[in-house]
Amino acid sequence: MVKVFRGRAQATPSEQRSATFTGTVWADPIMPATENVMVGNVFFSPGARTHWHTHDVGQVLNVLAGRGFVCREGEEPQEIRAGDVVWISANERHWHGAAQDSYMIHMAISIGKTNWAEQVADADYVQQGD
Ligand code: MN
Repeated sequence: MVKVFRGRAQATPSEQRSATFTGTVWADPIMPATENVMVGNVFFSPGARTHWHTHDVGQVLNVLAGRGFVCREGEEPQEIRAGDVVWISANERHWHGAAQDSYMIHMAISIGKTNWAEQVADADYVQQGD
């Protein structure tokens, strides 16, 4: 199948997320879920982040604007900025979100089911590079 999605004409409306995020987060699905792949732009306000989660196959993050962090469980958060691209392997527990003093927008290409867990505690939301 080759299918072109023109602008957002066939996409679903932007939605504010809360159940699996901390802080104010807007998700803008830019391609309807297609063959187990979801593509969306995610807008994190300063301090906002995902809950801990895994992806059944993996995920690509392309940071479009601002500054934030991605963190694999057991490791220190890594700073990410506009232009950075992140690959997250299958079943790696992780979170991603904005820095405390900056918004962050990333495109997320999520492959396979996303499995959500508990929120990231403030103590684990460590600031690097400040
Ligand atoms: Mn993820």
